Amino acid sequence: MSKLTLFNTASQRLEEFAPLVPGQVRMYTCGPTVHDYSHVGNFRTVLFQDLLRRVLESQGYQVTQVMNITDVEDRIIRKSAERALSIDEYTAPYIDAYHEDLSTLRVEPAAEYPRATRHIPEMVSLIQQLDAKGHTYVSDGSTYFRIASFPRYGVLSHLNLSGIKAGARVDVDEYSKEDPRDFVLWKARKTGEHFWETALGPGRPGWHIECSAMSMKYLGETLDIHTGGVDLIFPHHEDEIAQSEGATGKTFVRYWLHAQHLQDATGEKMSKRLKNFATVRDLLAEGYTPRAIRYALLTGAHYRSPLAFSEDLLRQAEGAVRRLDEFVVRLNIAEDATGLPPEDVKRQWDDALSNDLNIQEAVGQLFKFVGGLNTRLDSASVSEAERASAYAMLKHANRILDVIDFPARELEDTITRLIAERKSARDANDFARADAIRDQLKAMGIQLYDTKDGVRWKRL
Ligand code: AMP
Ligand code: ZN
Repeated sequence: MSKLTLFNTASQRLEEFAPLVPGQVRMYTCGPTVHDYSHVGNFRTVLFQDLLRRVLESQGYQVTQVMNITDVEDRIIRKSAERALSIDEYTAPYIDAYHEDLSTLRVEPAAEYPRATRHIPEMVSLIQQLDAKGHTYVSDGSTYFRIASFPRYGVLSHLNLSGIKAGARVDVDEYSKEDPRDFVLWKARKTGEHFWETALGPGRPGWHIECSAMSMKYLGETLDIHTGGVDLIFPHHEDEIAQSEGATGKTFVRYWLHAQHLQDATGEKMSKRLKNFATVRDLLAEGYTPRAIRYALLTGAHYRSPLAFSEDLLRQAEGAVRRLDEFVVRLNIAEDATGLPPEDVKRQWDDALSNDLNIQEAVGQLFKFVGGLNTRLDSASVSEAERASAYAMLKHANRILDVIDFPARELEDTITRLIAERKSARDANDFARADAIRDQLKAMGIQLYDTKDGVRWKRL
């Protein structure tokens, strides 16, 4: 297998991946803002993270992933106040829905899902550390990060920030800052808003500080990988670097990975604000299967290219998943069959994924293999060993794809037993009994085919 290379947003280059501690990967992922249901655009980024994680795991790494839940911010505060609910009461159904959608899409669960509201003391203490090192100032009761105190600011986003005039005093969001680039760490209490009484005064945290505080709490001061959608590069991740490195003096993140957006048919970013979004729930109600949604978001495009969301994309995904299902059934192999994937096909698959997670290339190779063998299954006999090897390849690919439903062992046992009984009945010229068994299988959703290699079955 070739070495895993990943595109690091910070260096703007493909880099060979090696974690700080051999064999172990510490990965942080910016999670949802639970002011509403997440849309499938958000889940495209989640599935990119799932892909990354599964590829790391399939290469033998033990991955500890942490995904935060942003459960305090302007919209949450406003909407919970409008409905006279506490923040927890307001966000609970959206947090539950998020976890439900993750499991619908077969996303591997993170080790922790820390919530911002449960980590106020950690954020306050981080701000105090920044204060002790001269990175902060207070204005109108709010605490700000002073960008001028952190010369490396801009290392991630490579933006030319010189156009923003330093020193100009501007009012943004009613808070006054020394420099427009400065960002708020702690927001002073506003009348009628939820607040925490802390050593920094009454108020609530800014958005950026939560990710620095929670990632370092759960994963240590230097993370291997930090991910998110491209919209988070600036200012969110740039600010995370300033806060974390400003406080610890150590490298915060070794590899920054960002996913491009899911777009609507017109090329606009899918977003709540533009109202051009669909939720997982919407798509399920329209009759799309969870596996098709997963497949579409996972394989529709390379993670660094935008993906246009459409009915076509979903239909093609339905078709691809069906073809894989049918192929597995046609192989007619027991779940515990032993075989090793064909070396060349496995190598193509692994190498494509090692090359900055090129899932499109991997899937292309897989379907070429499936197509080739399918033709031969139609025409010539394919040995049990070759079928077992193909089956092993599909199992290998499914560690990443996770869209194939391999027939359950008990069901297969029953089918195999009934097929054997049917054969005995036929051998004894008891055709009525043989037909009854065929009908019984049909009622179970299994169609039999008599081929020159013996009986094969397929799900209806
Ligand atoms: P939010 O819930 O808005 O905080 O976003 C959660 C995650 O979804 C972040 O990593 C965003 O970058 C990502 N995201 C937001 N919109 C899209 C989109 N249209 N396509 C892909 N990822 C997105
Ligand atoms: Zn974040």
